[in-house]
Amino acid sequence: MSTNNTSKQAKNYHSIKLICDAMLGKLARTLRFLGFDTLYVGELEQSLSSALPDPDILELARETGRFILTRDEMFSRMDSHRIILIPGGSVEENLNYLKSKQSFSFTFVQEDSRCYKCNKRVKKVPKKSIEKMVNEKTFEHHHAFFQCPSCNQVYWKGAHFKRDEDGILSRFSGVIEDEIE
Ligand SMILES: [Zn+2]
Repeated sequence: MSTNNTSKQAKNYHSIKLICDAMLGKLARTLRFLGFDTLYVGELEQSLSSALPDPDILELARETGRFILTRDEMFSRMDSHRIILIPGGSVEENLNYLKSKQSFSFTFVQEDSRCYKCNKRVKKVPKKSIEKMVNEKTFEHHHAFFQCPSCNQVYWKGAHFKRDEDGILSRFSGVIEDEIE
């Protein structure tokens, strides 16, 4: 990415919208969790039942004001401003790269978090309304619950990803700053 228009504010998750290229599905889901409006090419291709050529992805990004994250160096050369080349590595390394080299900032606010499956912003729901949707222990130990308005997936702090028993916040504690209650 070129140096113009890359101020820290411009990439705060309240304003930036993204497209994650194929191969970056885990990163896409994590960015949704962190509040970024993130499309994932793998899902788009699945819903279209066909591959999405690079020029089409770029056109979509331009039309919808999104930056593209990709592992494909050739693709990244098509638009050095809009396409960010992500070096290989774990999701944590990817986030660190975006933070240190691309001026991204990551701040977790549960209310701004998005469903990792649908990319819809989660909504706070009354505890009672999700009683039958989570296990007893979770219901007892947590007080603030959130739900995806599209797929009804229930979220609560510390265990945002259903299969992430350790909680994403602890996994990425070195990357995500200023966790806000
Ligand atoms: Zn959802």
